[in-house]
Amino acid sequence: MNLMLEVVNLKTGFDIEGEIYHAVDDVSFSVKPRQIIGVVGESGCGKSVMSLSIMKLLPMGIGQITDGEIKFQGKNIENNSNDEMNKIRGKDISMIFQEPMTSLNPVFTIGFQIEEVMLNHSNITKKEARNKAIDLLKSVGISRPEKIVEEYPHQLSGGMRQRVMIAIAIACQPKLLIADEPTTALDVTVQAQILELLKSIQEKNDMSIILITHDLGVVAEMCDEVIVMYAGKIVERTNVDNLFYNPKHPYTKLLMASIPRIDKEVEELATIQGIVPSLKNMPKTGCRFVDRCPSAMTECSTVTPWLETIDLDHDVACLLYKSSDIREGVR
Ligand code: SF4
Repeated sequence: MNLMLEVVNLKTGFDIEGEIYHAVDDVSFSVKPRQIIGVVGESGCGKSVMSLSIMKLLPMGIGQITDGEIKFQGKNIENNSNDEMNKIRGKDISMIFQEPMTSLNPVFTIGFQIEEVMLNHSNITKKEARNKAIDLLKSVGISRPEKIVEEYPHQLSGGMRQRVMIAIAIACQPKLLIADEPTTALDVTVQAQILELLKSIQEKNDMSIILITHDLGVVAEMCDEVIVMYAGKIVERTNVDNLFYNPKHPYTKLLMASIPRIDKEVEELATIQGIVPSLKNMPKTGCRFVDRCPSAMTECSTVTPWLETIDLDHDVACLLYKSSDIREGVR
């Protein structure tokens, strides 16, 4: 099957005082056409850096892809120039950023910001772009779009700004949408509306979506497949059913145990001890989760686990699932 996106052994590093530290370290995954993939993990696990790497929007002079491949519709894009990326960004691959208030430009009207994308990528007049912007605002559920196009971001509510971000992201009907915590800043009712909207646009436009979130409820509602990231690495990849009913990696199990569920009575929700190691303090060998893992074994500090298929549609990077011979062999 033709893949929409293929990420192979991606490494993205940041230059800190002359040394490169990897926030995304040897990450591989793929996205099929019309698939919605969830990427979960705590803050600092590399989810956003991975998506900025795909968009080639890493902070200039500090962040860089140091290794690996990113193939969009079969074509390598990891070495694309900025001009080449400008032709793809917004048109074929779009992104909804975390915080609409800081992502929208406060000095331009909503209409200008939606029209700009269409004028950059298609051969249409300003009047046609204005009409399309109004239609787009209508399609994302904004009432009085003729008035809203004349307004500035600060005049809108958080939910409306997020809808505007979605309108900008889908203006050119991209094939792949990367949504980075698209509902984090919103209250629960608006969050549900935005998710429903994203799903309906995905079905209508045959889009693939990479949905970055720390909210497992959002994953359950939206995704076909899930990638769990920890400290820059993928530790588990599977379908949504497996994630919720048969999680394997100790980190995933703790994440699952830390959310309230209506089908299970628990006295106290689980917490994960400690914090994600900082880039500078990342263990050089062994499992990066070792200091927080309740199942850690002696060899976990010296043998680095690798992602491996352990069951149908289920990949896990944890030494618990390797035979003792293999663990000894690579020690
Ligand atoms: Fe825990 Fe060891 Fe598995 Fe890492 S490899 S998650 S420390 S059991």
